[in-house]
Amino acid sequence: MSAHRIPLAGVIGAPIAHSRSPRLFAHWLGAMGIAGHYIPLHIEPADFAQAVRALPRMGFRGINVTLPHKLAAFEIADHIGDRARRIGAANTLTFREDGIHADNTDGYGFVENLRQSAPGWSAADGPAVVLGAGGAARAVLDALIDAGAPEIRLTNRTRARAEALADAFGPKIRVIDWSEAPEALAGTATVVNTTSLGMDGADPFDLDLSTLPRAALVTDLVYTPLDTPMLIAARARGCRTVDGLGMLLHQAVPGFERWFGATPEVTEATRAAVLG
Ligand code: NAP
Repeated sequence: MSAHRIPLAGVIGAPIAHSRSPRLFAHWLGAMGIAGHYIPLHIEPADFAQAVRALPRMGFRGINVTLPHKLAAFEIADHIGDRARRIGAANTLTFREDGIHADNTDGYGFVENLRQSAPGWSAADGPAVVLGAGGAARAVLDALIDAGAPEIRLTNRTRARAEALADAFGPKIRVIDWSEAPEALAGTATVVNTTSLGMDGADPFDLDLSTLPRAALVTDLVYTPLDTPMLIAARARGCRTVDGLGMLLHQAVPGFERWFGATPEVTEATRAAVLG
């Protein structure tokens, strides 16, 4: 890879037009005066491997990978980082001389968002409740365990998916039936919605929060709308809340560092640029 080429990176998905990452990277590149580009690439699953292998020769230093390719990104890698291996999926690929390196920065972004937006919060403060057992939940569980959560109560509409995650992530995970989720909120320090409930166009969020302690920190991965029904209901109970946009911004930091050689900051200006 020539050092004289304009550095390129991008995001691969199908669809990709809705992605906010190009706006995020353009903001950081502009703010830091870096002559690089970050490009959205709509690639269908059947073309993924061929497209990714062609990118380094085109000047790409790496790519972010979003739905539906996170598993394929993990499988195409020559080198897999620890957290990607634990999560079983990748969202950040870096092209190096010795091949494709895979990382998963979703859990990192999740925890960094809470650390920045809720000063004083620690995963070790007490038990956590995680709603949902899809792809995003895997990254959240890994990050909460890594950050010291003593116990995680995991609940999902389809119980078998939660049980599969408990098997994968070990004894800190306690599976709670979806019908018993409201009672599971008692005594928790951290509550995370990783389901699509409450997202624009998805089913409404209607979980009873009446046992939620006032001291709990509540966060939602859904960020359309930014202020979700769960966050509004949690604030009405006196809880601190953190929206999901920050996770998206923080998960992009490691890729930017590797591809463009500088560390971007997540600030109010970053949020404003992405919300545009
Ligand atoms: P996914 O793998 O499709 O999982 C969806 C989850 O939502 C499953 O647990 C599913 O339960 C649950 N769900 C869907 N409809 C439901 C309903 N009517 N009642 C109860 N549960 C329901 O999706 P994902 O990739 O994990 O993403 C989940 C959410 O996180 C999405 O809104 C996504 O936009 C958001 N997200 C945000 C960020 C960020 O940076 N902020 C990053 C990643 C994802 P079943 O297993 O029973 O179907």
